[in-house]
Amino acid sequence: MTPRRPTRQIVVGDDRVGIVRIGGGKPNNDGTPTTAAPVSVQTMTAGYTHDIDKCAAEINKLAAGGADIVRVAVPEKKDTEALKEILPRVQVPIVADVHFHFQRALEAVEAGVHKIRLNPGNINDRKQVIDVIQACKARRLPIRVGVNEGSIIERKDKQKRMKELGAVFSEQKHGYLLAIMITKLEEYLDIFYEQDFYDVAISAKSMDAQVVIDAYTEISKRFDHPLHLGVTHAGPKETGCIRSIAALSALLCNGIGDTVRISYANDPIYEVQDGLELLWSLGLRERKGVDLIACPTCGRIQVDLFTLVQDVRKQLQAIELPIKVAVMGCIVNGPGEAEGADVAVFAGDRRGIIYVQGEKVANVTEEEILPRLMHECREFEAKVKRGEAKLGEKKVDIIPPDPIGELGSGFEKIAGGNVEQLHTLTVGGVGGVGGR
Ligand code: SF4
Repeated sequence: MTPRRPTRQIVVGDDRVGIVRIGGGKPNNDGTPTTAAPVSVQTMTAGYTHDIDKCAAEINKLAAGGADIVRVAVPEKKDTEALKEILPRVQVPIVADVHFHFQRALEAVEAGVHKIRLNPGNINDRKQVIDVIQACKARRLPIRVGVNEGSIIERKDKQKRMKELGAVFSEQKHGYLLAIMITKLEEYLDIFYEQDFYDVAISAKSMDAQVVIDAYTEISKRFDHPLHLGVTHAGPKETGCIRSIAALSALLCNGIGDTVRISYANDPIYEVQDGLELLWSLGLRERKGVDLIACPTCGRIQVDLFTLVQDVRKQLQAIELPIKVAVMGCIVNGPGEAEGADVAVFAGDRRGIIYVQGEKVANVTEEEILPRLMHECREFEAKVKRGEAKLGEKKVDIIPPDPIGELGSGFEKIAGGNVEQLHTLTVGGVGGVGGR
């Protein structure tokens, strides 16, 4: 991991909803020193902002799910009017997403929103931009300048412009796009700097992960504002997840990125969950809740592990502490993973052996694995809370059980293909995998 790139810092929020800092490490324009804030997770509501009850409920659900900042669309005046009622009902900083109508930005500022997002592709009248800057400056609100690929492409003289600008980054596969994003940013930010306004975050999203990586990398060399990372229009969660994580991981591992929004054509709660998991996995945020490890299963599996893992995952949501839990399908890798986990189970022939910090605590039938594992997790959490145990501490080295005895089948039977067959095993609703 490359250390985080130092940036200026912007501050989003207030005393009532809480303050979220984005970026840091460089002094701000007034000379205030800053230190890099943890990378934050953002999302955007999927419903209409003017549907006040639903919008407030959606924001609160996303905040409860871990969103640090929530953005709302304000395409019409009734949306900015609604903000006045929504804002007192939520407990998280709110960003107004403004396109085409600069008045929506002014109205959102007036309503008490915590940050404005502007798009140079559709609000580019100099006077209008200055009006928004001055309104934000008066209330000490930051602005995100978002140069999304889809909304900044110049359609007039497109071929000529592509040739001219593409030459700037002729080595890059998407040279024209990079050039237009950077040119737009330079032109737009000049207006901000002329107004002595520096509380700016930048985004440069595309649906193409390679463009995202190249664009943010080039922008990080040219601007010292915090960067809001995202792959826009990433698609359904199933594929959008890979597209987003591919781009964002590459950037974050290179120290680039101060806040992230993953975007799916799905309930935005998944954007929050996956954004958090990304940051936890890269060690950029302190994990909240359980860290669940599970094997992918293979021809040695001897319990219905996929069902067990899903059941464990659901029930573990009740655990607050970042306990590491391993659910492993057999004795081959089970003891190894159990060594590093706080609570672990590895399976034998329709059995499970359960360990707590390396100490064997139970050998139970397949039906008893879930309740016993959850019992051990709850007990362990209670012990940690009472100060009687520490997370990540291994008390004893695991002595792998005799595979022939305790697990009911064992290496010899496995090698000889004599393990009991699981004819009723179903995986994720797809039947017919019996015989493993
Ligand atoms: S732990 Fe066992 S069942 Fe799971 S993948 Fe490894 S060898 Fe296969």
